[in-house]
Amino acid sequence: MTDIALVTGGTRGIGAAIARSLKSEGREVAAIYHGDDDAAAEFRHNTGIPVFKWDVADETACRQGVALVEKQLGPVSVLVNNAGIARDGLFHKMSWDQWRAVLATNLDSMFTMTRAIIEGMRERRFGRIINISSINGQKGQVGQVNYSAAKAGVIGFTKALAQENASRNITVNAVCPGYIDTDMVAAVKEEVRDGIIASIPVGRLGEPDEIAQAVSYLASPKAAFCTGSVLTINGGQYIANG
Ligand code: NDP
Repeated sequence: MTDIALVTGGTRGIGAAIARSLKSEGREVAAIYHGDDDAAAEFRHNTGIPVFKWDVADETACRQGVALVEKQLGPVSVLVNNAGIARDGLFHKMSWDQWRAVLATNLDSMFTMTRAIIEGMRERRFGRIINISSINGQKGQVGQVNYSAAKAGVIGFTKALAQENASRNITVNAVCPGYIDTDMVAAVKEEVRDGIIASIPVGRLGEPDEIAQAVSYLASPKAAFCTGSVLTINGGQYIANG
């Protein structure tokens, strides 16, 4: 049976590279997006990967969306929780809306998406779950208290879920990218961006495909002994110990 992979935020940036990589290995892939219909249509046209539109922060939408994907493609065996947003600002000026939006999309989505899929994985006694955290969940970042809190939460979620599901042959791992050349980083002011690049020892931003290759490894049968891990890929910008 063909493996089915579901990638949230799979139509742009890092998620699109992950979706392409998983497809190139012979899987059927579903890419989830939220608002940018044009980008999703272009991605679908270029890759042949089916796209589905829902909000990963909406529990009901996730349950219904996953049911639709599984009806159309089959049971999901690889889940990549990649969708994420930033709403930056210093904490003493941060609004409740900025906080809620980031926590909902980046952390609530770990519950909504994984809860909709994991019972099936447990019944079938196989699964690969890969959660995209961030360098800023490891080290913290000025202007990103909300984002850093959510991404640190992703790491705790990963470690606990890995322990609960190891005996069912389900691995759960997190990847912490450093600064990657996507729309999210393009949205940062040029002088800030230049400062970021200057702080990366390898002297450049990462490429989405450099994250996708790591996700492909974690999704593969060869990674069966790798669970609860936090893989840091940041060009040497922050040397983390877990
Ligand atoms: P992009 O902004 O380039 O793409 C985000 C993707 O997520 C889009 O497909 C978007 O859909 C989708 N998305 C956003 N919100 C929702 C939602 N509520 N429901 C469903 N889909 C949603 O992001 P990146 O590729 O840069 O980032 C991907 C992940 O990597 C994120 O979790 C991010 O936090 C993390 N990360 C990124 C880094 C970077 O330097 N770029 C560094 C470290 C971590 P749509 O197109 O419809 O908006």
